[in-house]
Amino acid sequence: MQHALWQSVLGEIELSISHAAFTTWFKNTELIDNSNNVVTIAVPNIFAKRQFEVKFNDQIRAVLEKNGISPERITYTVRTTGKKTVSREIITTRETSVDELLAPVSPQERQASSSTMGVSGLNPRYTFSNFIVGSSNDLAYTACQAVAANPGTKYNPLFLYGGVGLGKTHLMQAVGNEIATNDPSARILYISSETFVKEFLESIRFKKKGFSDKYRNVDVLIVDDMQFIAGKEKTQEEFFHTFNALHQTNKQIIISSDKPPKSIPTLTERLRSRFEWGMSIDIQMPDFETRCAIVETKASLSGIELGRETIEYLANNIKTNVRELEGALNQLLAYAEMRGVTPDISTAEGLIGNVRHSRPQHVTPKQIIDKTARHFQIETKEICSPKRDKHIVVPRQIAMYLLRSELHLSFPKIAGELGRKDHTTAIHSVEKIEKAIKLDFMIREQVAEIREKLYA
Ligand code: ADP
Ligand code: MG
Repeated sequence: MQHALWQSVLGEIELSISHAAFTTWFKNTELIDNSNNVVTIAVPNIFAKRQFEVKFNDQIRAVLEKNGISPERITYTVRTTGKKTVSREIITTRETSVDELLAPVSPQERQASSSTMGVSGLNPRYTFSNFIVGSSNDLAYTACQAVAANPGTKYNPLFLYGGVGLGKTHLMQAVGNEIATNDPSARILYISSETFVKEFLESIRFKKKGFSDKYRNVDVLIVDDMQFIAGKEKTQEEFFHTFNALHQTNKQIIISSDKPPKSIPTLTERLRSRFEWGMSIDIQMPDFETRCAIVETKASLSGIELGRETIEYLANNIKTNVRELEGALNQLLAYAEMRGVTPDISTAEGLIGNVRHSRPQHVTPKQIIDKTARHFQIETKEICSPKRDKHIVVPRQIAMYLLRSELHLSFPKIAGELGRKDHTTAIHSVEKIEKAIKLDFMIREQVAEIREKLYA
């Protein structure tokens, strides 16, 4: 009875607010009591509770009254994760409940998931149910769900783009996992474009057979971080044929990139136009409320209830991307556990303040130059010499880039550190590496590795 009532309330509310808001806030809610003139609604976390009290209370009251119920008070109570309170009817896809997420993984399951991962590249950790929807990713989420429900028919290819750490991989993987659940016989392959490039080059170099077949004999091909195919003409040509073979037979193709097809540099025209055939959607950084919901939900998945001001502090201070937000939260939880303190706002302030200010302080220009030289197994004096050999030039450019990015040195100063008089070389070097990092994953990895060594 109460269940039916709540379903009808939800039905009306769904029509009056954005889809994003509805999925973010009304998923996992339930009317659990209606007696003594008080209606009690269970919500999944304290952040939702506050949203309901300040934002949705009047609306819920109005809809209840329409249904002949005029309580004196509506209260919102946080249901902890132990009980199953999920009202599944409002969820369009199969949900993993919090219980399931928290349950220890059995050895069989672990084996099953790692073997799926081996073959398909899918990671069961990424699902629709643990993806928080807000206005920044609502369209992408909806399109991904549509593709998961009817692969190969709608939005083909589906092209997701946006900056790092905003959930592209998560959503594409969720599509793959969902299709695999609905149809265990579906052949799904997830790869990064880097892997595609690497395997393609190996197949040519070592005359390996089977490369084309591997990618053309699938029902769903998911290619992550397509930007790394930029500038690689032969690989693009191969991918073009793969694309056509799949598309002609109504196989689903899902692609992600950091930019829309038209902005990926040196992408051949014909591949670009293929990418624009289907649907391209961008993902942005979630707004403040969604960031709060992400922090709140992720903390409660770890069994921790964070105070509202702590949640808001994290959401307010980490606006770069969701991965960093998640990282800051994990750091806070780990630190609090290790020290046996509460993960509250003052702990968070201490930690985040530290992360922000500590880095450049203990690194010197000399360390950057030495570590870069050592990383490439050359001598420091070579990197600082006028030599133009390629195996010295690139490390030198990377050292210059790091002097700029880590220490914000001026260009004349950078030139000076490397024994150069002319600072235009420093400008060119820094620009060159900045560009290379975007296009060339080898360079990007080298730089990341040196950075890690600097702060180790
Ligand atoms: P991208 O591929 O765009 O760089 P990822 O998909 O790897 O980003 O996301 C980075 C991290 O943030 C992942 O751990 C992912 O699960 C998480 N994440 C991103 N967006 C969301 C979201 N809306 N809800 C929950 N987790 C998210
Ligand atoms: Mg990614």
